Amino acid sequence: MNSTRPITPAFLRECADYNAYISRGLLGTLRLPGYVMDAAGHAIINRGEVFCRVLSCERRSVSLSSTTNLRAHLLGHGINCEVTPSGRVSQAIKTATMQWYTALIVASGPEKEEEEEKDEQESEQEE
Ligand SMILES: [Zn+2]
Repeated sequence: MNSTRPITPAFLRECADYNAYISRGLLGTLRLPGYVMDAAGHAIINRGEVFCRVLSCERRSVSLSSTTNLRAHLLGHGINCEVTPSGRVSQAIKTATMQWYTALIVASGPEKEEEEEKDEQESEQEE
């Protein structure tokens, strides 16, 4: 397995739920939500996100090397992302971001849950 860690915003490096997001994302055991669009029709993504949330995309469990690369990847799906201002990240955004990862880990359930979907094997028998 590729063990290269994606580029991580400093404030997330010691966040346990963010680290769980990375490790479980690579295992494919995250329950990733769909994208929410802002008023301008741009997908809202969080700092540190490196997995694609588009259904059936191989990048759901293969991390991009950075959130910047995730944005570029999403353009390939025709999804424009909200522009994230560069520079200092406010405490409110840090807190909201960490809460998003916490909620995602909670929603994804226990770590060793069996995968429910076995569609991949069946779809190989196409005619
Ligand atoms: Zn994708």
